[in-house]
Amino acid sequence: MDTSLQPEDVARFGADPAAVFAANLAQVHTRIAAACHRAGRPVGDVRLLPVTKTVPARILRRAFAAGITDFGENKLQEARDKQDTLGDLPIHWAIIGHLQRNKVKYLVRFAQEFHALDSLPLAEELNRRLDAAGRDLDVFVQVNTSGEASKFGLHPDDLLPFVTRLPDFPRLKPRGLMTLAVFSADTDRVRNCFRLLRNLRDRALDIDSGLAELSMGMSGDFETAIEEGATVVRVGQAIFGARPTSDALYWPGFAPDNR
Ligand SMILES: *Cc1c(COP(=O)(O)O)cnc(C)c1O
Repeated sequence: MDTSLQPEDVARFGADPAAVFAANLAQVHTRIAAACHRAGRPVGDVRLLPVTKTVPARILRRAFAAGITDFGENKLQEARDKQDTLGDLPIHWAIIGHLQRNKVKYLVRFAQEFHALDSLPLAEELNRRLDAAGRDLDVFVQVNTSGEASKFGLHPDDLLPFVTRLPDFPRLKPRGLMTLAVFSADTDRVRNCFRLLRNLRDRALDIDSGLAELSMGMSGDFETAIEEGATVVRVGQAIFGARPTSDALYWPGFAPDNR
């Protein structure tokens, strides 16, 4: 693979991407620690999952060398292409975006965790393919806490019935719940989404003791998420810089000026 920097890479990431990412990462860790401190939580409670979507594989090779070893990807096809190119590296792959059932077979080949479980047919197909491959998968159940049609995830009312069915899929190892908060400058509205997820988690835990974690918080809102109990924050742009693509690619109907 040609790992030399292309002109567009220098324009987007600078002449030394690994150094930029390392500095950004250190800043994000400092902010995570400060948020934990404010919330009276131990820093070790919160795991940072770097989100690598749109960052080209040749750049990710440098990020890996700089110590970023967990990669969160929204789209399975993009993750799969990168994994093909970076297959020699022991990367921990997390698929964090909505998954179509016909893509499950690819996920099962390389992903270690999946944050967007949102239907029984998907759970069934995952379990079937995992069983054929003789492996398990860490999963987070996605909940739509903002009520926006553009967001994927189970309706909050549907979560507990869904959780009671999880034992039917023994290859799925439930780890927690996942959400995307409303994209809003109004911190109270954002906070309410995270609070709802935490309250749902507390109830889901009575049914399935595996569901302890809360995957919530992105570059724009991870500190609020940590104050509300996040145990995994999924952070892309604060580490890798702004994305050149519209977020409408990931959230159909997403209107950038709502952000
Ligand atoms: C892109 C993405 C993130 C990270 O968003 P940033 O703004 O880059 O921090 C988190 N979660 C999901 C599901 C994503 O697709």
